[in-house]
Amino acid sequence: MQSLKDRMAAANQLLSDVAVPHEGKLGRVFPEAEDDTRFPFQRDRDRVIHSYAFLRLQAKTQVFVAGGEWGDHVRTRLTHTMEVAQISRDLARLLRLNEDLAECIALAHDLGHPPFGHAGQDALDSWMREQGSSFEHNLQSYRIVTVLEKHSSLYAGLNLNREVSDGLLKHSEIHPESGETLSHSLEAELTNVADAIAYNSHDCDDGLTAELFSREELLRVPLAKEAYERTLERGTYIRGSLQHMMVHDLIDHSSLDPKDAHPIAFSPEMKKGLQELRHFLWERMYNHPLVLAQTAEGQAIIDRLCRSFLKNPNDKILNLQKRTNSTVVEAIKDYVAGMTDTYAKLMALQM
Ligand code: MG
Repeated sequence: MQSLKDRMAAANQLLSDVAVPHEGKLGRVFPEAEDDTRFPFQRDRDRVIHSYAFLRLQAKTQVFVAGGEWGDHVRTRLTHTMEVAQISRDLARLLRLNEDLAECIALAHDLGHPPFGHAGQDALDSWMREQGSSFEHNLQSYRIVTVLEKHSSLYAGLNLNREVSDGLLKHSEIHPESGETLSHSLEAELTNVADAIAYNSHDCDDGLTAELFSREELLRVPLAKEAYERTLERGTYIRGSLQHMMVHDLIDHSSLDPKDAHPIAFSPEMKKGLQELRHFLWERMYNHPLVLAQTAEGQAIIDRLCRSFLKNPNDKILNLQKRTNSTVVEAIKDYVAGMTDTYAKLMALQM
């Protein structure tokens, strides 16, 4: 077998100058010998895929409460994550950025999402604010890979390369640990946009499947209409066509100049089209009475769990607190945020 170093050098030749090279630049917190069959970011990807937090994505809400009355043909947090990873890889290859890094950030990007989707995040955040703190799912994804997951008895977390863990700090400008200004890799920027490409297109699909709106109603949105017209010839569906249009637009309009505020960006026309689509989805899907009823139930469950655990923390919470050297409040937050929808419901029934 050719050496890892030689294989990485050859693969780096295919990357743009602004890509993160295959050996990375920032390294791991705990130095480790590299594996000879996989590049460092491939290895990180495998650690993410084999983590407990990743397994739990299968029973977490994307928009619809997982395993609920909507049937099996709507996205969960896991299938959403797989779509983001797929789009990230393709975009990275098209832009000659590091596919392995983009894929790895994508697979980890929603690990910190609590049960019941954004409603769950709001409920957990308001409870944490009562306790003088706050909750944000991107920071929680970072905490999962750096503190909460167990990969080796020698260190906490997954000991990923810092390009991956820092890439999860989506809305942070300052690093939560070092206090330094964060400069996001283009691969991390790309994954953010891939997230938007994935949810804007698959939510149209899920909304139609769950019959929250009709195709005629969706087609009143100009971008959706354009996407639909493109499908007629091939007899395909609107989701794929929307993705295709967004990917093309992004490739044609990204500067890839790290000095730009948004080096990976859509054209102004696509931004406007997406704003109209977002508006439609907000009104007709995320704020649909049936979706709101489910999310309200989820919020009540999270609130009940947190209050009850604060009065009476169980062994899992106390062990977690000890292992992570945290406050009880933080351990409750970590425990509840990690739950699947199913597990949270089950726990709430026992209270
Ligand atoms: Mg996402």
